[in-house]
Amino acid sequence: MDKYDYDLFVIGAGSGGIRAARMAAALGVKVAVAEQSKAGGTCVNLGCVPKKLYVHAAEFASAAATSAGFGWTMGEPQFTWSRLRDNKSSLIAQSNVRMEAMLADSGAQLIHGRARVISPHAVTVDNKIFTSERILIATGGRPYLPAVPGIEHLLTSDQIFDLDQLPEQLLIIGGGYIACEFAGIFHNLGVKVTQIYRGELFLRGFDVEIRQFIAARMRLEGIDLRFTTNLKQVDKTPEGQYMAQLTDGSTVTTDLILAATGRRPNCTDLGLESLGVEINSQSAISVDDCYQTSVPSIYALGDVIDRMQLTPVALAEAMTLVKNLYEGTTSRLDYKLIPTAVFSLPALACIGLTEEQASEEYPHVNVFTTKFRALKHALTGSQERIFMKLLVDGQTDRVIGAHMAGEGAAETIQGIAVALKAGATKSIFDQTIGIHPTSAEEFVTMRSITRSHRH
Ligand code: NDP
Repeated sequence: MDKYDYDLFVIGAGSGGIRAARMAAALGVKVAVAEQSKAGGTCVNLGCVPKKLYVHAAEFASAAATSAGFGWTMGEPQFTWSRLRDNKSSLIAQSNVRMEAMLADSGAQLIHGRARVISPHAVTVDNKIFTSERILIATGGRPYLPAVPGIEHLLTSDQIFDLDQLPEQLLIIGGGYIACEFAGIFHNLGVKVTQIYRGELFLRGFDVEIRQFIAARMRLEGIDLRFTTNLKQVDKTPEGQYMAQLTDGSTVTTDLILAATGRRPNCTDLGLESLGVEINSQSAISVDDCYQTSVPSIYALGDVIDRMQLTPVALAEAMTLVKNLYEGTTSRLDYKLIPTAVFSLPALACIGLTEEQASEEYPHVNVFTTKFRALKHALTGSQERIFMKLLVDGQTDRVIGAHMAGEGAAETIQGIAVALKAGATKSIFDQTIGIHPTSAEEFVTMRSITRSHRH
């Protein structure tokens, strides 16, 4: 008889958990996955997938106006929120079913219910005990809300996808991925959006010039973007609206308030503390570079640890873990050079160092930039521009950062990321023939140095 019910018990059927479970099961490992909600986790249910659908919906907003120069005459555009929301929901329901089927096909067993770890080798799900040689915590994260009076009036990204109706006005708190993405989405869907950020310039951590470019464009589009202010208090008005008092002394009266103020790892009430699983100062599970916690039979990955809260990172962590545990490899995931995109309108995407980081870390950095109007907009009348930047190590000629803001940014940077991962020099970029006419070809035709940093 087997010592344990399972070889691997995964808690959380999100991106990382499902990938680990399927891969391990395909290798003949006996796997169970516990999930208290729907299969797919944040990405499928309340994150990347519905968000990108809403970004697409938002992009159609200007279709009638911008197509006129190309000969089209369209009627007055009308947007129906409930149709978008319900179509999104049925697509996600299909994805939930498909993900459960994929798990079953791989041989992993899905157990519905809330799991708690009760010993280094045992888990309970709704009072039933399961034993396992190893336990993997892949419980993801949840929105964090700032502790202000009136906190109960704030919505998070968990609720915003399924609003009964589109508000006329929306106040967004925060200046990160979610805040900027929803500002663009709701603005384009016709909502009057005010976005506030506590610092001097939002999108902290990204290249400053890109952040300035995005801020300028969002303002030009009509988003009321306010920096150096924060939410102090929220009160409900007799008319059923919300009045937000801000730290700069101003007030905003609005229909809804979205707090997009970060996400925190989901590691409370899982039984981990009592087993001695170390939780770090970021409230994330501490793991070594093999995703092992301070209890050797317990592993963790994805948003519940303190690496990068990105789906492809969780997938890569899961694949690294399973290969190391069950295929005898000793690989480590390289967290350098991870491309990322913010699907704001316009979007931004990047890989590698920002200009600020590069000029600090390298004695000689050459900066190449270009700002141009895409050919398409020659006939649309739009003032939209695309901004691109390459950062080159002046000593080795290696490209150490690539940044883009504007239409097609994420798609373009994904390709550029391969070049940077391969260690491409600027000379390789220069030798690469462009595809004409595209915006992306500008990345291989930037010839003059915009500025250099030396120290
Ligand atoms: P982010 O960390 O990106 O942004 C949080 C924002 O909230 C920051 O501007 C931060 O300010 C601000 N903030 C934090 N605490 C407070 C507070 N108490 N009062 C006011 N403002 C505050 O988190 P998000 O919630 O936007 O997204 C969570 C994560 O999910 C992202 O970091 C990303 O990893 C992932 N994600 C990825 C997406 C993608 O790949 N396209 C899309 C959406 C999410 P400050 O900068 O000053 O700290």
